[in-house]
Amino acid sequence: MGKLAIHGGAPVREHTLPYGRQWLDEEDIGAVVEVLRSAWLTTGPNVAEFERLFAEKVGTNEAVAVSNGTAALHAAVHALGISPGDEVIVPAMTFAATANAVIYEGGTPVFADVDADTLLLDASAAEALITPRTKAIVAVDYTGQPCDYDALRSIVSKHALSLAADACHALGGAYNGRPVGSIADLSTFSFHPVKHVTTGEGGMIATDDADLAQRMRVFRNHGITTDHREREKQGSWFYEMVRLGYNYRLTDIQCALGISQLRKLTTWVKRRQEIAQAYDTAFADTPAVEPLRVRQGVSHAYHLYVVRFDLSQLQASRAELFAALRAEGIGVNVHYIPVHLHPFYQERFGTGPGLCPVAEQAYEEIVSLPMFPRMDDRDVEDVVTAVRKVLEVYRK
Ligand SMILES: *Cc1c(COP(=O)(O)O)cnc(C)c1O
Repeated sequence: MGKLAIHGGAPVREHTLPYGRQWLDEEDIGAVVEVLRSAWLTTGPNVAEFERLFAEKVGTNEAVAVSNGTAALHAAVHALGISPGDEVIVPAMTFAATANAVIYEGGTPVFADVDADTLLLDASAAEALITPRTKAIVAVDYTGQPCDYDALRSIVSKHALSLAADACHALGGAYNGRPVGSIADLSTFSFHPVKHVTTGEGGMIATDDADLAQRMRVFRNHGITTDHREREKQGSWFYEMVRLGYNYRLTDIQCALGISQLRKLTTWVKRRQEIAQAYDTAFADTPAVEPLRVRQGVSHAYHLYVVRFDLSQLQASRAELFAALRAEGIGVNVHYIPVHLHPFYQERFGTGPGLCPVAEQAYEEIVSLPMFPRMDDRDVEDVVTAVRKVLEVYRK
């Protein structure tokens, strides 16, 4: 197939294809401009409307908009009442924010290992970590595949824990016919540009529990019980700060963009699934590359398409394969360095190698291939061509 670009050959692509990318159209831009000309730039009608439409989309009674996905996790941990001394079980294979949010409220994240086939939280590993101090499990729908919620639900019921979902990868997915967002007690989402829909920065928490939603609305607004618009309506200056909160509000400018983006979600998730199908088919007969397994009964939202390289068949490390693919113009990435291996966690919590061996082993072998709805069939072919080209050269 020719000399690798990393060895001086011609790359598969001249311009690098990123691993993820937003898609904005004139309708989105128009929606934002309209808000810019209006009276309410923040705490206005677009916030409530975005929350309403989002809740409808994920099948919950409530949705609370916040400034980013990390703020969503923080609000969720706060609403669940996590406080110093409490333990919260999180998977090792996730973005650091999942665990960080527990610490924001004084809790201790406890890392559970993941299932080797899906890299989703291993429910039995999670159950084995439960102590009298455990208050909650935060499941992460890694790559966009919903976790094993039947197993998790029965564990949290048995031990009287809360179940939260970091569903930042899984908007538009479903578990046994139930939309992601409506499965756990609380589900958090992010609207960062690489996620399914974007507001630049932004986040949301979906829940059926009106009390939890109210706690989070107060939390995102300094711990104050009414917002500016409500006071204006009531013609009153009086407000009370009842708990310590933050300014985690999402602007009307961003919510208008979110409303416009949300209309495309279903089509975009379908396109992500199509791309995944094309990759699955191509890699079914490509030795040394193994896509993660997808379990029965799930509709995978494919924020990421992660493959594992079988290094026993290759004369290269993941780092070398990564560099070779980047040189070919394929913007591969790695999701994630297991959180317990980050220096902060090692120093503060004494975590380290050996704690979650399945996640640690996977980390040595995984690469995220480009996955975003605007990719055309030619882009998908380029990725497949580059992967095959690189593997052919490094195969033992
Ligand atoms: C993106 C993401 C977050 C954080 O979202 P931000 O909007 O970037 O703060 C948290 N958890 C997971 C799993 C994510 O993918």
